[in-house]
Amino acid sequence: METVKVLIIGSGPAGYTSAIYASRANLNPVVYEGNQPGGQLTQTTEIENFPGYPEGIQGPEMMDQLRRQAERFGAEIRPKTIAEVDFSSRPFKVVDEDGNTVMAETVIISTGASAKYLGLSDEEKYRGLGVSACATCDGFFYRKKNVAVVGGGDTACEEALYLATLAKKVYLIVRKDYLRASEVMQRRVREKENIEILFNCNTVGLFGEDGVEGAKIVQFKGTPQEDFFDIEIDGFFLAIGHKPNTDIFRGQIDLDAEGYIITKAPTTRTNVEGVFAAGDCADPIYRQAIAAAGTGCRAALDAERFLMEH
Ligand code: NDP
Repeated sequence: METVKVLIIGSGPAGYTSAIYASRANLNPVVYEGNQPGGQLTQTTEIENFPGYPEGIQGPEMMDQLRRQAERFGAEIRPKTIAEVDFSSRPFKVVDEDGNTVMAETVIISTGASAKYLGLSDEEKYRGLGVSACATCDGFFYRKKNVAVVGGGDTACEEALYLATLAKKVYLIVRKDYLRASEVMQRRVREKENIEILFNCNTVGLFGEDGVEGAKIVQFKGTPQEDFFDIEIDGFFLAIGHKPNTDIFRGQIDLDAEGYIITKAPTTRTNVEGVFAAGDCADPIYRQAIAAAGTGCRAALDAERFLMEH
């Protein structure tokens, strides 16, 4: 059976950075890309805050560069997903989506996070028929139409601004009476003529014949000013945060209440010796590409040290 020294699960900035470091340390890392090769940044447009790109860079292009950098030093990148892990003894047993088993002396988990949904049954009903969690993937379909984005953080503002370049009108549905996004993003949203911010609003349902034609909104829910109204939209975009992709590790390593992997700061060690975690799957706070890349570096160095000691 195949045994690898360093097995990396996930191919975002954390996974590729750990692959760059581990391959340069001659550890022949194997990266399982997962079902979204390159991770969340492949769904974004311009990245303006990653150091070293004064003019900005497109998300997919940056991930392609990281991948090529990892491959240049010998990392093997497999276009597969890991379905199951057994961390009860070393080497660890890891099974891919086709049922192939790989033994790993160390594992670096960098599975990232995925977009959250509100939990409305209508989101399921209209999934792919007007409901999306990725404006850059699906925005194209809403040219000159009306759309809504739910959320008040940087992601919501970014999605709203992107959609505003395509759509006729963008509603930003915010449950509080303020935006949580950074000042610069707030300003850009406010300055955009075709974005209307609906503060103190929650979505209670969606309607439409063959796809989304509108959303049912409640404003000032549970107060004397409570008001129900509909907005006419063709697209409904979620931007309300993320959930860590850690379901397959439940029962194998310690997770917090939200499912984030608990690491022994400042290291990337988990409660299982030889298993390390990097990037958004272990980061409920910062969730930035540069922060993920930083922990990816640390995870590779932690794995290298662990292999030297064992
Ligand atoms: P955030 O957690 O920052 O924001 C989530 C937003 O969704 C909040 O406004 C929250 O409302 C709202 N929300 C959550 N649950 C619900 C719900 N059930 N119904 C309605 N609204 C809901 O997530 P982001 O994805 O925006 O950002 C995550 C991190 O990534 C942040 O640190 C952000 O700064 C960063 N980021 C940075 C970017 C950049 O620098 N260009 C781009 C994108 C993200 P409430 O405020 O009421 O809790």
